[in-house]
Amino acid sequence: MGKYLYDKDLSVVVPVFNEEGNLPELYCRLTAVLSALTEKYEIIFVNDGSSDGSLRLIEDFAAADSRVYYIALSRNFGHQVAVSAGLDYVRGRATVIMDADLQDPPELIPELYGKHTEGYQVVYVRRRKREGESAFKKISAKLFYRLMRRVARIDMPMDTGDFRLVDHHIVSCLRRMPEQSKFLRGQIAWMGYRQTGIELDRPERKHGRSGYSVSKMFALAFDGITGFSNKPLEWVSRMGLIVFLIALAVIIYSLIRHYIYHQTVEGWTSIIASSMFIGGIQLLSIGVIGSYIARINKNTDNRPLYLIADSNIETDSEE
Ligand code: UDP
Ligand code: MG
Repeated sequence: MGKYLYDKDLSVVVPVFNEEGNLPELYCRLTAVLSALTEKYEIIFVNDGSSDGSLRLIEDFAAADSRVYYIALSRNFGHQVAVSAGLDYVRGRATVIMDADLQDPPELIPELYGKHTEGYQVVYVRRRKREGESAFKKISAKLFYRLMRRVARIDMPMDTGDFRLVDHHIVSCLRRMPEQSKFLRGQIAWMGYRQTGIELDRPERKHGRSGYSVSKMFALAFDGITGFSNKPLEWVSRMGLIVFLIALAVIIYSLIRHYIYHQTVEGWTSIIASSMFIGGIQLLSIGVIGSYIARINKNTDNRPLYLIADSNIETDSEE
């Protein structure tokens, strides 16, 4: 890792999870665009434990085209890890990260590359519109980016995915970030440097289904927030204070009624309601604290981020 020189003009990293329907068209369009830009490019496909014929297709591309590389992970590690694996082996002075499902059109790469030659080190793509995605996904994504902007200390551009160009400084910085819970767009925003964006009406995925289940989406959102902000912990303690003040008010009220007005407050309902309310808040708070602890736990385990089963690049795992 990191022993490679940046001797290409442009690398493209494509994470692949069950994309056999999209890969042939992607490969065609990508090579057409790239070969018009430069001779010295490489495409690295990272197979993230696909269960369809994706890996065979990628191996075929690599066998026929010396500019195609593949890394086959030992199982499904998730999109962020697959991209990180690809970034560990790129040799481009600039690298484009893009999805395999043609939602990130290869034809945008010349524009990204153009901005890079103007001197920008990160060129991200802002999604102006998202076609063919469920209302739930659109709304949750919108809410997430707004929430992230409020809680995180980083200036993360709104409505951007991981489709972007980064230069080799950014790639080396990412390689030096050891965190296990990856949230690349946040990590890159955190770095600063010269960043700019272009806009895109994001098209629908061509074939197959989204590999991002609702639970994967929530996990990513959680990693984003807990990785860049301790605000949820502050909210929990504030909530505790508020509940304590309410309880205090209720106690004083009951005492006054008992001793001054000689009416004892009674009631099963109030006891059950209040104890369940407090129980709920406590569990919620433990959950929030727990997710921060889980983060620490994951990072102290010191496991490798991913394992490689096979590759046509000389990777460390074969040593
Ligand atoms: N992907 C991956 N591992 C996963 C899920 C997705 O490598 O566990 C890849 C997928 O093949 C695609 C990219 O990540 O190239 C984006 O995934 P997807 O299109 O499913 O996400 P969406 O566009 O629906 O957010
Ligand atoms: Mg997609």
